[in-house]
Amino acid sequence: MARKDTLSPSKITTYLACPTKYYWTYVNPKGKWYLRSKSYFSFGTSLHNVLQRFHDSGDHGVTTTEEAVAALEESWIEAGYSSQDEMMQQLAEGKAIVEAHVERVMREPITAQTIVVEKLYRRDLGPFVLIGRVDRIDEHEDGTIEIIDYKSGREGVMEEEVKNDLAMSSYQLILREHFTDRKIVASIIALRSNTKATAHLDEAEMAEFQQMLTELGNQILNRDWDNEEPVPKALCPTCDFKALCLQHPDFELPAAAE
Ligand code: SF4
Repeated sequence: MARKDTLSPSKITTYLACPTKYYWTYVNPKGKWYLRSKSYFSFGTSLHNVLQRFHDSGDHGVTTTEEAVAALEESWIEAGYSSQDEMMQQLAEGKAIVEAHVERVMREPITAQTIVVEKLYRRDLGPFVLIGRVDRIDEHEDGTIEIIDYKSGREGVMEEEVKNDLAMSSYQLILREHFTDRKIVASIIALRSNTKATAHLDEAEMAEFQQMLTELGNQILNRDWDNEEPVPKALCPTCDFKALCLQHPDFELPAAAE
């Protein structure tokens, strides 16, 4: 039996931003030759790796601020920075972020226990399997399950943004099948400002989200990729695939970017 297609929040977000970008990223293997390293991916992954270790109760190597900063230096990913200066500046910022995060966690009263760090979950939605990698799951004293996602680029976060975030809603949808009898909430921690916002989708909102996501997934999986035509948009000038799209006879970059 053929394996079901899988979709993730990042695949769906890419499709919503630009279907042609989805095509070059996930459908046509030629696209991978055009992908460039991004400093913000390197920065985010470096921070995620350290926070994962700090919150992992089985990892005894990163339990203090000093150990967290040392772990960041050791596992720092250098790819994608435009200069050594830029990278050193980002490393200094990363150290400050890690310090602030660890200090905040140590200062706050313990009302929840981390039960999962960095794990891939899946849920079969019928036409496709929805997958999502969660940064962390905490279990609160009242039994509530809290999904936590770290954002290294954001300066701040509001409850409404968490509520409308496709990835956070997807994680709630997936985990409802894994924690059937629990209330599930989702939180984003904006690491640069060390702030956090939490939201929850009720039954009606979740049903509406599931229906929207299933329709969107069907649209992606049944798209006629052989006849995909790029449509110019604001993000084209900074897109890795513009050289490929420019090979299309009718495609032109927006005037200001030429
Ligand atoms: S260059 Fe523009 S149209 Fe082409 S993939 Fe990128 S964003 Fe989409």
